[in-house]
Order: sequence, then structure tokens, then C-alpha cells
Amino acid sequence: MAGDNVIKHSSENPFESMKKRFDVAAKIIGLDESDYNVLIAPQKAVIVNIPVTMDDGKVRVFEGFRVVHNANLGPSKGGIRYSMDVHLDEVKALAAWMTWKCAVVGIPYGGGKGGIKCDPRSMSKGELERLTRSYTDLMVDVFGPDKDIPAPDMGTGPQEMAWIMDEYSKLVGHSTPAVVTGKPIVLGGSLGRVEATGRGVMVSTRSALSKLGISPIGATTAVQGFGNVGSISAKLLASQGMKVVAISDVSGAYYNENGINVEEAIAYRDGNKGTLEGFTAGRKITNAELLELEVDVLVPAAMEDQINEENADRIKAKMIVEGANGPTSASADEILNRKGIMVVPDILANAGGVTVSYFEWVQNRLGYFWTEERVYRRADRVMKTAFEGVYAASQKYNISMRIAAYVVAIEKVAEVEKLRGKFGL
Ligand code: GLU
Repeated sequence: MAGDNVIKHSSENPFESMKKRFDVAAKIIGLDESDYNVLIAPQKAVIVNIPVTMDDGKVRVFEGFRVVHNANLGPSKGGIRYSMDVHLDEVKALAAWMTWKCAVVGIPYGGGKGGIKCDPRSMSKGELERLTRSYTDLMVDVFGPDKDIPAPDMGTGPQEMAWIMDEYSKLVGHSTPAVVTGKPIVLGGSLGRVEATGRGVMVSTRSALSKLGISPIGATTAVQGFGNVGSISAKLLASQGMKVVAISDVSGAYYNENGINVEEAIAYRDGNKGTLEGFTAGRKITNAELLELEVDVLVPAAMEDQINEENADRIKAKMIVEGANGPTSASADEILNRKGIMVVPDILANAGGVTVSYFEWVQNRLGYFWTEERVYRRADRVMKTAFEGVYAASQKYNISMRIAAYVVAIEKVAEVEKLRGKFGL
């Protein structure tokens, strides 16, 4: 997402932001210097320049990235982002977050991430296809069902995954659906994958509310971002009896103290070229104002660095559940802690997506597909178990849920690294 309405702070480098949390957690668990040095550095970072013939016949060159942060626990896993804001340090941070995320929920993957600096909204379907296929060609030695497995992220979805699957399969000479997740169902996608991240946000919100002794019935929430994660989180939170008082996208934020009908908002967006522009079921406010509403639960589900040292002090929510990756800058952590706001961190709260990606990969390799009910039941169990594990660590060390999640993850990846030895991919 980009636009005047979304707060952007380039002041905090996302990789530095990740590292600050890592440093705090590393100290708590007494990580030795060698392990520290191995775990903080990405194992691989590939930069490619992708020439694409545009519809007007001219060739444009796009910069693309794929970072494998760590592949100790298994093949690296993580989405591919199409956005004009993509840069190497962002992809490095997002890849590291995938390592910690997979470790927190206990799935056998390492962390990776990819990105292409482009504006997908201004490109035709043909241009996007040629871009995605050429990127796959250039990454053929990086990707692989036992090596590195991409998935959707901001600006990409099932169609891009289908192109990657097709191009990769052609290059290796046989159909390889398990090379990528988040595929369309007919092509080997998993039931429940599209809803998975939002569902995980809902499950972790419920767990967190119960720790604070707040009933979901009538609890208020504001959700920033109305893409896949934001809109489905909002819909599922409403299905639990919560009152969604504000939603937003690049066009601005919409507030209604009596609650917004999320299904109606989704239908409006879908019939309005994907934006909430002109939505009248709520009073128009800014994205910045949405973040500062007095609600029980704030769900930032847009982009990085939305809650930062400039606005953290004005956050009035009782709890923040991070649907996006990195929506809170490291400098805001301390302010939120001081204010006693419980933060369910990204690497836990939004892990439902990669969990069902793992289920998709398992189903592809089995050649046997699960019912939606089975996917949900298993994903919910993974999310609840992970939440309790992180909560227990936060109690044990008397630390925030964020640092606790890093502690749980780093302990696991460090242990595996010790068992395997330091240099294996
Ligand atoms: N892009 C999603 C994330 O940040 C999903 C990654 C995946 O499914 O591999 O968690």
C-alpha cells in the first residue's frame, strides 16, 4: 500500500528494527557470539535485473530480490512482494521475520522473502505475467520444493503463484506444484489458504483477549489495511461478535462507532476497483487517526512502521495484534510496553498464512487434499499452541510478547544450528 494517507517513515531501517529485537532476545537467552553472528546474517541474497517487454514494445528493467535468511529448520519459505517500496534491507528484514515466524509456530521451514520493485496496479496482466516468468527464470537455482518456496505477499496473489509454478515446472521438465504455495485451488492450492492469515489473526486475538479477561462480544476493533489480511481479519473478528468500528485502505479510513458491516465493505471494495474510495457507511478519517482510536484491539494490517516513536504515545488501544509484517518500529516497542499495551507480534499473529502454506506443500507432496474443516482445525491448533508457548515465555522471563516470540524462535533455530553444524544450507 502506498499513498498520502498511509504513514510512511523511512527513518527506521527495517533490518535494523528486526536486529534491535533480536539483540534484546539474544541477551535474554545468553546466545554466544558465534551463534549470534551466524543467526543474524542472511545466508543468501540474490539481486536480479529483469528485462520485460512492456505492452508499448519498450523494454523496462525491474529490480528483483530473493533473500534466504536461514534454512536450518528446513527449506526457506516466504512470500514475494510487488511494490515500488521494495528494497534489499526490507527484503532482508522480511526474510528474517519469516525465519522467526516459522520457528514460533513450529513448522519445518527456514525463512526467505522476495520482492520486485514495481507498481503492479499500473501494469497489464500480460506485463505482470512476463515479469513473473522472467523473475522465476532468473531464480530457478534459488527456488525449489526442498530449497526455497515462495508464496504471495503484498501485491501478489494466486495468479502470480500459478505463473511461477508453471514456469518453474517447464524449466525443470516436470510438474512441480510444491515449489510455491498460495496457488489457485485447481492448481494444487489448499482450501483455507486465502483466509489463513486473517483467521490466524482472529485466533490470536481471541487468545490474547482471554488473557486480559475481555470478552470478544462487543469488544471494539479498528483494522488498518483492507487487503487480503485486513479485510479477512476484520470479517472474522466481526464473526466472533466483535464490533469493527474502523477500517481503512489507501483511500483513507472509515469510522462508525456503531460498527461497520465488514461483508458489505468487502462487497463495496470488490465492485469499486479494489478500493474503499467513496465508502459512506463510516465517517472519513485518516489512517493516522484510525491508529489512535480508543478501541480494545488495534489490528495494523497494512505495511511496516505505522506505529512508531512519533505516534506510539497516542495509541489508546488495549491491545495490538499485528496482521502486517513489521507494523511497529523497534523504537515504539518501549513506549507501548510502558503504556501497558499488549502487543501480539507479527511473527506470531500473522503466522496463520505460512502455516496453511505448509499444509498446502504437505498436500502437494502427498497428492491428497484435505477438507477446509481439517485445514482450519489444524491451523487453529497450531496458532493456539504457538500463542500459549510465547505467552508462557513472556511470563517466565517477564518480557513482552514480542521479545518472548523472538526468544522462542531464536532458541529453536540456534539449537538446530548447533546440531547441524554452522555451515549447512
Ligand atoms: N507472505 C506471507 C507472510 O508474510 C506468507 C508467506 C508464506 O506463506 O510462505 O507470512
